[in-house]
Amino acid sequence: MRLSHIKDLNPFLGSFLYIIGGEIAIYVGMELLKSESKDITDEDITENIKESIRDTDIDFEPDDSEILKLNTVRKTLYKLYSEKLAQFRRIRDKSTGWFIYYWWHEFDLLEEILLEKKSLNEGKLRDRLQFEQNNYFFICKNCQESNIKYNFDEAFELNFRCPKCGSPLEAQDNQGIIIFLKNKIALIQDIKMSID
Ligand SMILES: [Zn+2]
Repeated sequence: MRLSHIKDLNPFLGSFLYIIGGEIAIYVGMELLKSESKDITDEDITENIKESIRDTDIDFEPDDSEILKLNTVRKTLYKLYSEKLAQFRRIRDKSTGWFIYYWWHEFDLLEEILLEKKSLNEGKLRDRLQFEQNNYFFICKNCQESNIKYNFDEAFELNFRCPKCGSPLEAQDNQGIIIFLKNKIALIQDIKMSID
């Protein structure tokens, strides 16, 4: 296992990150955890990971000479964001005019479950599952930069067509977290049954 140096990461959180975005998502997750006290930019995450894999054979960009691209980290962060596991704020750099994105993780609910800090709370999981199932959004992949999300009712009213360009609206994928929550609920039911 190449990930031995990140053994401190909760294995369940690690597996979930891996399911969402592969091995790089684990590294990104680790960086978000490390900078809990201070939001971190995607540039700094990229540099930190590059530093941590410099003397290994790990290469996230096998097709070229780079070992990790900023774009790969950004894509991974957006995957975590769409699973509601990360959030960002952005500010405009006054000298360059570019936006700088600051990121932080939202692993708390997962960690709470996974670290079993509190008793396993099935109701909470069911609430979250219901939220995820009721609050999935539809987007137009053609106009994605506009970042407009439609909830189910709105998308339905629009006949699942983008009002701007007419392309079909597609459901934003939160299946990962829905499956994860269902598995956790099933696991708790198993535990309960074996205790009973
Ligand atoms: Zn559109």
